[in-house]
Amino acid sequence: MEKSADVVVVGAGIAGLVAARELARGGREVLVVEARERVGGRLLNAELAGGLPIEVGGQWVGPGQDRVLALIRELDLKTFPTFTDGRHIAELGTARSEYTGRIPRLNPAALADIAQTQWRLDRMARRVAAREPWLAEDADRLDGQTFATWLHRTARTRDGRAFFRLITEAVFSAGPEDVSALWAGFYIGAAGGLDALINTEGGAQQDRIVGGSQRIPLALAERLGDRLLLGAPVGAIEWDAAGVRVIAGGTVVRARRAVLAIPPPLAARIRFTPGLPGDRDQLVQRMPMGRVIKVNVVYDEPFWRRDGFSGQANSDSRPLGTVFDNTPHEGAPGVLVGFLEGRHADIGARLGPGGRRAQVLADLVGYFGPKAGDPIDYIERDWAEEEFSRGCYGAFAAPATLTRFGRALRAPIGPLHWAGTETATRWAGYMDGAVESGQRVAREIAPTAIVSPA
Ligand SMILES: Cc1cc2nc3c(=O)[nH]c(=O)nc-3n(C[C@H](O)[C@H](O)[C@H](O)COP(=O)(O)OP(=O)(O)OC[C@H]3O[C@@H](n4cnc5c(N)ncnc54)[C@H](O)[C@@H]3O)c2cc1C
Repeated sequence: MEKSADVVVVGAGIAGLVAARELARGGREVLVVEARERVGGRLLNAELAGGLPIEVGGQWVGPGQDRVLALIRELDLKTFPTFTDGRHIAELGTARSEYTGRIPRLNPAALADIAQTQWRLDRMARRVAAREPWLAEDADRLDGQTFATWLHRTARTRDGRAFFRLITEAVFSAGPEDVSALWAGFYIGAAGGLDALINTEGGAQQDRIVGGSQRIPLALAERLGDRLLLGAPVGAIEWDAAGVRVIAGGTVVRARRAVLAIPPPLAARIRFTPGLPGDRDQLVQRMPMGRVIKVNVVYDEPFWRRDGFSGQANSDSRPLGTVFDNTPHEGAPGVLVGFLEGRHADIGARLGPGGRRAQVLADLVGYFGPKAGDPIDYIERDWAEEEFSRGCYGAFAAPATLTRFGRALRAPIGPLHWAGTETATRWAGYMDGAVESGQRVAREIAPTAIVSPA
């Protein structure tokens, strides 16, 4: 089958769908080709018994994420706050703290170390300009070390270091030794500081979307109608100054431009003819995806609330290091969501389904007591097993990547344009960054036609 358009968009995640919408509004004929039989990419709703949706991919939005919040309003979707009433649990070293507010009651030396390290981290993140971190004053020094090295030099106590390992796994779904210190600074700066990333109230985990986050891409797709082709994995792209020929399964699409709204490791799998310039190809070889297994554990009711717990728990010693109350807006059934991140996902995957479930339930019992061991349902998703995601939450840069090849992250090559949350300058890695990238790429292609804010 042959098709043609002004612009072909590869990938119907939130970035590709926003790009297509903006371009269509600007009068361009667009066609979106999506590998999966569904839209949304890293956003996916599953169903609880009884039919209520629950997210197995990305889900939270928070203050400062102005682009995705504006989109949510525009699509007439509603948000509701993440449940946070009651005592949170923090386990660090041998101590367990049950606390309200923001600061766990931990050993004062550890707390002082954490505060000092966070101050230094935020200062470093501010100095790393989000648009072009490779131009920052000490870019070479930061990109020449892992975030683990930076943390080891900065945090002084065992508990302080363990805290920042836990935070790194929760934010990057990778270990501090995987990630360039420059990428860590860029990513934190792009969100406006560490608090914005890790907080529930006032931060990135503050709000949820009624009906589940996949309603955003589903609503965008509905408006695109037949300008969207599902089940069309792009395997090859031929290009020259005049345009592209995109081979997507049994369909060939000719267009003047292509938007690749897919993460770098997915772009690396496409065969380009002629081959891409070395800078671009080297870049995508150095930006792996993180690894996470997301688990929603379902109970008749949110029993922890009656026991005075918020459902929010963190531990540096349990594989399930981060847990939140994920009960639907309707108030039942009760749902706890937890994440096996980075090396915990490696080990969890090797355990197999039965062993993993036993591990997850043991951790939840450790946090919330024996009732947590008796769920009515268990819904998990291992994103490293997804052919068209290859891991999550997002891609990150290994050391000596941004300073050598960062310039190739967004730079168009002939008719080829790059989008996806990894290319964002604000909230990279998040839905908000994906929206930014879709808007930016549309402006790149149709500078006069696009009206969305820069
Ligand atoms: C478990 C989990 C939790 C997360 N939590 C949050 C959160 O709470 N808040 C938040 O803001 N973000 C969160 N994220 C991240 C968020 O989901 C992503 O930032 C966002 O969805 C990325 O959108 P995108 O369009 O850039 O990429 P994607 O969603 O990855 O879209 C890319 C699309 O391209 C398709 N594709 C890939 N290769 C090809 C090909 N060769 N041909 C055709 N199509 C192809 C894919 O199938 C996919 O649909 C989370 C992600 C995960 C997985």
